[in-house]
Amino acid sequence: MTQLEESAVAHMDGMNSAGHMQMVEQYSANNYAPLPVVISRGEGAWVWDVDGKKYLDCLSAYSALNFGHSHPRILNAFIEQAKKLTLTSRAFQNDQFGPFCHELTAFCDMDMVLPMNTGAEGVETAIKTARKWGYTVKGVPDGKAQIIVCSGNFHGRTTTIISFSDDPQTRAHFGPYTPGFVQVRYGSTDALKAAITENTVAVLFEPIQGEGGVVVPPEGYINDIRALCDEHNILMIADEIQTGLARTGKRFAVDHAEVKPDLVILGKALGGGVMPVSAVVGSKAVLGVFQPGDHGSTFGGNPLACAVAREAIRVLVDENLAERAGKLGAAFREKLRAANCSKVKEVRGKGLLIGVQMTADAGPAKPYCKQLMHEGMLCKDTVSDVMRIAPPLMISEADLDWALERVIQVLA
Ligand SMILES: *Cc1c(COP(=O)(O)O)cnc(C)c1O
Repeated sequence: MTQLEESAVAHMDGMNSAGHMQMVEQYSANNYAPLPVVISRGEGAWVWDVDGKKYLDCLSAYSALNFGHSHPRILNAFIEQAKKLTLTSRAFQNDQFGPFCHELTAFCDMDMVLPMNTGAEGVETAIKTARKWGYTVKGVPDGKAQIIVCSGNFHGRTTTIISFSDDPQTRAHFGPYTPGFVQVRYGSTDALKAAITENTVAVLFEPIQGEGGVVVPPEGYINDIRALCDEHNILMIADEIQTGLARTGKRFAVDHAEVKPDLVILGKALGGGVMPVSAVVGSKAVLGVFQPGDHGSTFGGNPLACAVAREAIRVLVDENLAERAGKLGAAFREKLRAANCSKVKEVRGKGLLIGVQMTADAGPAKPYCKQLMHEGMLCKDTVSDVMRIAPPLMISEADLDWALERVIQVLA
């Protein structure tokens, strides 16, 4: 062992932030540029670093922590299930899977669930569903199915998904790319209309683009997608991995438009901040295309994930998190706009998914996020000039006001 390794192993438990960061730099692939904070404990909307400093979490693991850190009910469901049964694989049945599917379909007002683990797997599953539906139900010639996607999209990191991204860094050096996707300008009904052919099987979209900079499409756009999909017998697939489960002030972001997609992809918060849990939820007419052996996942639908997700959905309903997110988010945006910060070009979003775009003079958002970190508030830039503020939905009004003061102070 090198000297660094020896000292690290010897002091692993008592290591300070600098020691941890040095270790990550040496032993981890360099695919992230995290803020320089090393967290060791979390409770509700707050986290503590290894040096004992306290921070308000205003990122919530990109919406995976809608319920906050260590929610007592979710943690209890996790512990109790972990003591009984954690994994069977789908080769056998388990006593959590049926109730999970039943309760999730009831919550979503859908017929069926196909469980996965990560969001990207959920998206891949929706893509496979749409293609198989296209060939076996719609009658598209084999190998010709096309899926329409949007500019500025973020749907995950697999080779197929990055194939239809328009972010150069996301794609560069990862080809050859999966064909079968057509990209249109996000928010433009005309562009969507023009891209439809007889081989179009699905439109895959985010109701609000989170990674794309908290981009809210024009009023009526979601309704237009529904109408065009109906007119041309195309599946409407909403990626609600980040926007779903109360984040934007409704159950799903598409609920603002009172529209029902054919497939909804859920992830992130579905795992209660404890487990990776994702799912594609939809109608029997569409998810019914799968036969045994077509698709699967070793961990998908495992009893531990199902028990946690069941409790997460119950907490969401019992704590009125959608309504809470709607009210708190609207108030935050209103107050931040009223503050007329000189560095802010636009404040946007829905519910507690908030984007603060900097003026050209103010420069990138990252240095301001770093400044906020020193003030005890954690948030992250998305596309370079937007600061995303997305705290857990159970955050108290007082804590959110505290965050608002910090943001105003840093951006004034
Ligand atoms: C995070 C995210 C994904 C990917 O989820 P992973 O769990 O990171 O694979 C897909 N779509 C959207 C909209 C997301 O925000």
